[in-house]
Amino acid sequence: MPEMPESAYRSLPSVDALLQSEEVAELVRNFSHDAVTTLARDVLGKARTKIKATGESPAVEEMIAEIAKRADRAWGSWPKPVVNATGVVLHTNLGRAPLSSKVAKAASDSASIYSDLEFNLDSGKRGSRNAHISDLLSQVSGAEAGIAVNNNASGVLLTLAAVVAADPNKTEVIVSRGEAVEIGGGFRVPDVMRQSGATLIEVGTTNRTYAADYEAAITPRTAAILKVHPSNFIVEGFTHVPELADMVAVGKKHGVPVINDLGSGCLIDTRKYGLDQEPQVQDSISDGAALTLFSGDKLLGGPQAGLIAGEKSWVDLVSKHPLARAVRIDKMTLSAIAATLVSYLKGDHEEEIPIWNSISKDESAIAATAERWRAEAGTGVVEGARSAVGGGSLPGQTIPTSVLAIEPQGSVDNFAACLRRSPVAVVARIENERVLLDPRTVMTDQDQAVIEAIKLAISQDSQ
Ligand SMILES: *Cc1c(COP(=O)(O)O)cnc(C)c1O
Repeated sequence: MPEMPESAYRSLPSVDALLQSEEVAELVRNFSHDAVTTLARDVLGKARTKIKATGESPAVEEMIAEIAKRADRAWGSWPKPVVNATGVVLHTNLGRAPLSSKVAKAASDSASIYSDLEFNLDSGKRGSRNAHISDLLSQVSGAEAGIAVNNNASGVLLTLAAVVAADPNKTEVIVSRGEAVEIGGGFRVPDVMRQSGATLIEVGTTNRTYAADYEAAITPRTAAILKVHPSNFIVEGFTHVPELADMVAVGKKHGVPVINDLGSGCLIDTRKYGLDQEPQVQDSISDGAALTLFSGDKLLGGPQAGLIAGEKSWVDLVSKHPLARAVRIDKMTLSAIAATLVSYLKGDHEEEIPIWNSISKDESAIAATAERWRAEAGTGVVEGARSAVGGGSLPGQTIPTSVLAIEPQGSVDNFAACLRRSPVAVVARIENERVLLDPRTVMTDQDQAVIEAIKLAISQDSQ
């Protein structure tokens, strides 16, 4: 039986006493008196519950720290930085592609000033917010024109809506059965199709579709042929997917545009890094797709955006559709896209763009980092493992890496949770009852945070 709960209740500070402590008073100055008072009451309520259950009151310092933590969670800067030690380069839950400091600076520079975003400085008249990005997209991809929208999902929706709206008699869009897929996060090709007003015409089978299947499905009502890149799954064995060029040849014969949703949309040859080749935007353009659609924050390594590149007449049609305004992109993102594309033009993307930096990281440098973590934290073993590209690109593809593998004495889940609770949260991978920390995806200046987190987790690892 707990002893003396009465005195434990009596020892609890008043709300006012908590508000007057130095740290909480600071919170009141920074946020609001009422909001912080509510937090203090909640924390006192939790203390009473604890007394009821255990007979013991938390220390006043603990309560103050709890108020500060809750205030920071609720009103502090967000999202919080996280160390990605998972080895998954494009981690959708961790914000996909991080931006280089140069690209981030372009975004923040454009945020706090007036600019010529939609103003022509030569004529003094209204300009186009899309012209600059259109030029850059042409230069990197060979397309005649381009446009940037909120994300690729909206790019697909907008493109289909615009193509279908162009002629009320043509609403059918032909898709292979193997490509009427779910990309994730509720994005399903048949649903998007319905939302856009298009009628889905499925051809071929789940595993085999031929150019002739598309041709046989073309009618006077056909608005377009849509190709969707299988970003997050692999179909193996008895399969056939026609070459884009062959689909384009069929389309051209019947005056039907081919829309190519590349998903990740890579500008460089990923075979250079021992990976399979992710379809490149330039190839889609040169193979004759009328419109090529891809994400800004997958293998392009930029901010969240949807990029649409292709023939000028089609890009114009898409740009003028009313939905284009609904999915338009913010000026900060536009300047980040521009800076990202310039990096490819200059050819410094491998050093400048964090995801290429991670993917191209030298194996021996990775092993040396893992070894340093092991030496400084005093635990685990360094061993060979595989990093993944992730984020809806190159499914199943991995790159050799070295990890620090730790086998906790207590539960792995607790150990991983402790890493996440450290001052800078560290997210690791769990495999075979061990915690793996992969330096490939850890930024250079986050090294120390990893070591501190491991030390903290070890100190709390149950015996
Ligand atoms: C990821 C992906 C999308 C959605 O792109 P977001 O930029 O995440 O909106 C659409 N289509 C394909 C094929 C994808 O891989």
